[in-house]
Amino acid sequence: MQICEDMSLFIASLNSGSNGNCYYVGNEHEAVLIDAGISCRETERRMLRLGLSMQKVKAIFVSHEHSDHINGIPVIAKKYRLPVYITPPTLQRGGLMLDQELVISFGAFDTIIIGDLHVTAFPKQHDASNPHSFLITCRDVKVGVFTDIGIVCENLVNHFSQCHAAFLEANYDDEMLDKGGYPYHLKRRIRGGQGHLSNKQALELFTTHKPAFMTHLLLSHLSKNNNDPQLVRDLFDDCADGVNIIVASRYVETEVYYISNTVNDVPVSKPRRVEVTVQQISLF
Ligand SMILES: [Zn+2]
Ligand SMILES: [Zn+2]
Repeated sequence: MQICEDMSLFIASLNSGSNGNCYYVGNEHEAVLIDAGISCRETERRMLRLGLSMQKVKAIFVSHEHSDHINGIPVIAKKYRLPVYITPPTLQRGGLMLDQELVISFGAFDTIIIGDLHVTAFPKQHDASNPHSFLITCRDVKVGVFTDIGIVCENLVNHFSQCHAAFLEANYDDEMLDKGGYPYHLKRRIRGGQGHLSNKQALELFTTHKPAFMTHLLLSHLSKNNNDPQLVRDLFDDCADGVNIIVASRYVETEVYYISNTVNDVPVSKPRRVEVTVQQISLF
């Protein structure tokens, strides 16, 4: 199979969870970080282990102001002179100390072009000032970063159903949250529509709206106390339907995953009907 790397994306979670979130998405030439919630030193260390270069990173995009998404930003942005794409309310509420010249604001449904990468922001339900999710497109390959989401809204369904790969929040198991020791107000906050997505909500989105061409699902932002990585893996493996299921860790980076449009990887010299066959097989 011929692989055209210009049409592909490389993705990894550097950390995922309430202790820090940072997601790498890039092609051969340029990359972006979605959130930077672990320290600069730890971000560098993990990227180095993965063979990813900070020199390719051209920008940081900020989903919302919670500390697990912004803690590393001031040092990383300053050291590498990286522009930080952030909405004005998020900047204000996050209290980030950044060089004015590195701050670039965006609004809902804006698409920002970074080389061959197109990053589209869309609003989500979460208890922050102006939270957004992101869809990163390179040619026709699409990767979504969907964490810290209270409910599955229409925007999420629309964007999830376009993805070849997605980081999708599976924050808590209903029963573990119910029976766990969290105070009532915190339990209510988590599942109240402005908090986090449960395993069940994530699974329903996945089984109902995953497109036939999705190849990777990276389950993200798992709660330390109200979830269990093995439980999440078992739940999704049963419904994977050929999709590679990865559970992103709150302690270490994932591997780097190579995401491409498999239909377009069919060598052009082959007859057209081969492509059609590939497409049909992936529908079932
Ligand atoms: Zn978070
Ligand atoms: Zn949050």
